[in-house]
Amino acid sequence: MAENKVALITGASRGIGKACAIELAKSGYDVAITYAGNDEAANKTIDELTALNVKAKAYKFDVSNKDACSNAVDTILKDFGKLDVLVNNAGITRDGLFMRMSAENWEAVINTNLSSAFYMTNPVIKTMIKQRSGCIINMSSIAGRMGNAGQANYSAAKAGLIGFTKSLSKELGSRNIRVNAIAPGFIQTDMTKGLDAEKIIEHIPLKRLGLPEDIAKTVKFLAEDGTYITGQVIGVDGGLVI
Ligand code: NAP
Repeated sequence: MAENKVALITGASRGIGKACAIELAKSGYDVAITYAGNDEAANKTIDELTALNVKAKAYKFDVSNKDACSNAVDTILKDFGKLDVLVNNAGITRDGLFMRMSAENWEAVINTNLSSAFYMTNPVIKTMIKQRSGCIINMSSIAGRMGNAGQANYSAAKAGLIGFTKSLSKELGSRNIRVNAIAPGFIQTDMTKGLDAEKIIEHIPLKRLGLPEDIAKTVKFLAEDGTYITGQVIGVDGGLVI
């Protein structure tokens, strides 16, 4: 029997990351998931993944910490032997008008959403270059494409991920490593539960919020079928950005 492909998904105890892990597991991937502190959610996700008959392990560390990321990647490579797909998904918001935004809230969002992608991708690409194959997916946002009042920190981080994606895809294409970004719209997760859905839906051509599974299916498509796609930002937003 051919050995399973391996995916590493950050921030996959809940929400979009969890849905991505489940979708890839359904396609036969072994999955390493990471999370910040919610042990209960992570354990539940691992139970759901192992029920799909794949190898699944959870790793708790802060993606905004460079050493924690490189140590975790080392451990994951020892545990799984290789890595075919990396999804840089972990993220947070610390919203507020820019006039009152603290440096602490700026740095927390930039480090968790953007620097984390550098910290995780840097050790992972060494392995992918040796394998001469790989797929990296960065979770951007509509906020990174069109900006959003009250989210200067988050929009900057998510726009940064788009530049990172495009540059890296040009550097790594000749090594058969594809790098793409997904820009979700409003997806129903803990991150968006305080928002006024009715008001948002007025502006969405498809007239509904997105589900984590809408993003997960796109991740699976990029990993499995999008073999000639690199350097792209795929909007999965119900038509919000057209
Ligand atoms: P979520 O439900 O809040 O889940 C966040 C995940 O990230 C959790 O697994 C959490 O772990 C982990 N995480 C948070 N901070 C971390 C840290 N410092 N170190 C390690 N892990 C950390 O978020 P979501 O809505 O699924 O969003 C996932 C990604 O999609 C984010 O990058 C977000 O910006 C992006 N996005 C979301 C939307 C949306 O509408 N939901 C739209 C556009 C883009 P714990 O469970 O341990 O806390």
